[in-house]
Amino acid sequence: MAKAIQSIRGFADVLPQQTPIWRHLEETVRAVLAGYGYQEIRLPILERTELFARSIGEVTDIVEKEMYTFEDRNGESVTLRPEGTAGCVRAGIQHGLLHNQQPRIWYMGPMFRYERPQKGRLRQFHQIGAEAYGQAGPDIDAEMILMTARLLRRLGLDDVELQLNSLGSNECRKAYRDLLVAYFREHYDTLDEDSRRRLETNPLRILDSKNPDMQALIEGAPKLLEHLDEASKAHLDGVREILDAAGMSYTVNSRLVRGLDYYSRTVFEWVSDRLGAQGTVLAGGRYDSLVEQVGGRDTPAIGFAMGLERLVALLEERDLTSVAEAPHAYLVELGQTVAAHRLAERLRDAIPELRLVVNSGGGSIKSQFKRADRSGAQFALVLAEAEVAEGTVTVKDLRGTGEQRTLPQAELSTLLKERVFGGGSYS
Ligand code: ATP
Ligand code: MG
Repeated sequence: MAKAIQSIRGFADVLPQQTPIWRHLEETVRAVLAGYGYQEIRLPILERTELFARSIGEVTDIVEKEMYTFEDRNGESVTLRPEGTAGCVRAGIQHGLLHNQQPRIWYMGPMFRYERPQKGRLRQFHQIGAEAYGQAGPDIDAEMILMTARLLRRLGLDDVELQLNSLGSNECRKAYRDLLVAYFREHYDTLDEDSRRRLETNPLRILDSKNPDMQALIEGAPKLLEHLDEASKAHLDGVREILDAAGMSYTVNSRLVRGLDYYSRTVFEWVSDRLGAQGTVLAGGRYDSLVEQVGGRDTPAIGFAMGLERLVALLEERDLTSVAEAPHAYLVELGQTVAAHRLAERLRDAIPELRLVVNSGGGSIKSQFKRADRSGAQFALVLAEAEVAEGTVTVKDLRGTGEQRTLPQAELSTLLKERVFGGGSYS
C-alpha cells in the first residue's frame, strides 16, 4: 500500500462531526451582524503582496515573518491573505464603496500565517470580521463593541472579558514611543531577544509580549493612556460613556496594543481565560489612516475580527446537542430499493426539513438496524415485502420507548411531522 498523504502542518480539517458547531457559530454571528446593518462582502484569498506590506506595516510580525508569499507563474509577488481588513479596504476603494457613504461590511473566511502551530494557533485559521467606514465619532466604536458583546452572549459565552484601550493619535503615539524606547533602553539587560529586536523596529509591540519573564518590566513602563492628546482622550470618554450607560463591564488595559500597525485610538479585545496563552477570541480597533495609506481618500474606519477556531474550542466545551445534525429517520429496506426511494422522495416533498437517510447497499435487517442506530437517527422506517404489498411502513422509535407500529404510508408524513417537529406546524 502507498504511504498515506497527511495534511500540511498547521492546516486542519474540520470533520463532519464538528461542522454543526461551525455552522451554528457562523449563523449566530451572521444574524447579529445583520441586526446592526452589516452586509457581507466576499473577498479573494490571494492578493498582491504590496497590499499587506503597505497596510499591516513592514515591521510587524505578520509581514516580517508570517506571510505565505510567493511568485505566481507570471513572476508577480502574491500573498495568501493573513487577515481580512486590508482586502476589504482595497475592495472598498476599488469599487467606490467608501466615499460619501458609511458602509458597514462583514466578511468570513480562511486566513494564513506562518506561525508556530499550537492549541488555538494554526497556519490556516478562520475569521469573521466586520468594518465600519466613514464614521469618526466614538458612537460607532461603542456600538461595535456592544454588537460584539451581543454576539458572544448569544453564543452563550458569558465568561469572556472585554479589554479596552486607546492608542491615541499618530502624533501622541510618536511622543510616547520615544518615552517607551528610553525606558526599555534603561532596562536593556532584562529584554528578551524578541523585545530587543522590537525596540528598534516596533517598540509598542514589546507591551504585547507573552513572555512571563518580561511582565514585571512591562508593568513598570510608561502608560500611553497618561500621554493621550485631548481629542483622543475625549474620544475614549465618549466610547466609555455609551458602554457605561449600556451597563457593559470592561477593563481599561493601558498595555493593550495590537499586532498590526494601522490602529489608532480605540482598540479592544475579548479574552477568555479558558484558552491558555491563546485567549483572545475577538480583537479590533480604529484605523483612521489605513484607507489613505492604501491609496483611497482619507476615511475614518473601525473594525474587528474574531478567531473562529478559538470560539469553536469554547463552544465544544458546552452541551450542543441542540445543534447536532443526526438524521431524523433511517429507512431500512429489505429488497425493496425502488419502493424505498419512492417513499423517501415523497417524504422529502412533504417535509422539506426532514433529515432522512435511505439505507444503501442492502444488508440483513440486523446490519441495517445497526447502521440506523449508529447514524443517530431517532426513527427507523422499515420497508419489507409485506409492507410494500400492503402500502404500509413500519416505524420504530430507536431512542425513547422502542415502540413499533405499522401504518399506511400515506399517514407517515403526518406522524413524522408530529413526532419530529412537534404538532405538524412545520410544513
Ligand atoms: P495573537 O495575539 O493571538 O497572535 P493577533 O493580534 O495576531 O492575535 P489579529 O490579527 O487581531 O490577532 O486576529 C484576530 C483574531 O484572530 C485573534 O484574536 C485570534 O482569535 C485569531 N487568530 C489570529 N491568529 C491566529 C492563528 N494563527 N490561529 C488561530 N486564530 C488566530
Ligand atoms: Mg499574532
